[in-house]
Amino acid sequence: MKVGIGYDIHRLLEGRKLILGGVEIDYPLGLLGHSDADVLIHSICDGLLGAAGLGDIGRHFPDTDERYRGISSAVLLQEVAVKVSEAGFSIGNIDATVILELPKLASVIPQMEEELAALLGIGRDRINIKATTNEGLDSIGRGEAIAAWVVVGLSGREKE
Ligand code: MG
Repeated sequence: MKVGIGYDIHRLLEGRKLILGGVEIDYPLGLLGHSDADVLIHSICDGLLGAAGLGDIGRHFPDTDERYRGISSAVLLQEVAVKVSEAGFSIGNIDATVILELPKLASVIPQMEEELAALLGIGRDRINIKATTNEGLDSIGRGEAIAAWVVVGLSGREKE
């Protein structure tokens, strides 16, 4: 059994789509980043890579690389899942907390869990997403950013 942690934060601003957990959410602001800036998927990628001892998302997909400009983070997540599998691990569970003032996520969380499970090729019961506010404090509380924390459990497969 291996455990990994992931954390990421992105700025919210006008003129960008808001994509969280692979799902496009109707909101006047979106996250700024080199890719589609899906902060939840980035955090999950780091948790998975961390648990597998494979470094971090910046090492595998550098933001100086033009191939990754505007890329869907769903593609990165699928690539990370392959790397984790090739390293001999299977995903036990993923637990995530998204920290944001708005929009409210309760109604889209089931869709996000479904999408992430499909991208990773695992059962939906292995993914749990939570949302909380920052109680109006700091940049997240002012609605200027969204952050995500993730904890991942991997199990090593028996060598054949
Ligand atoms: Mg990021």
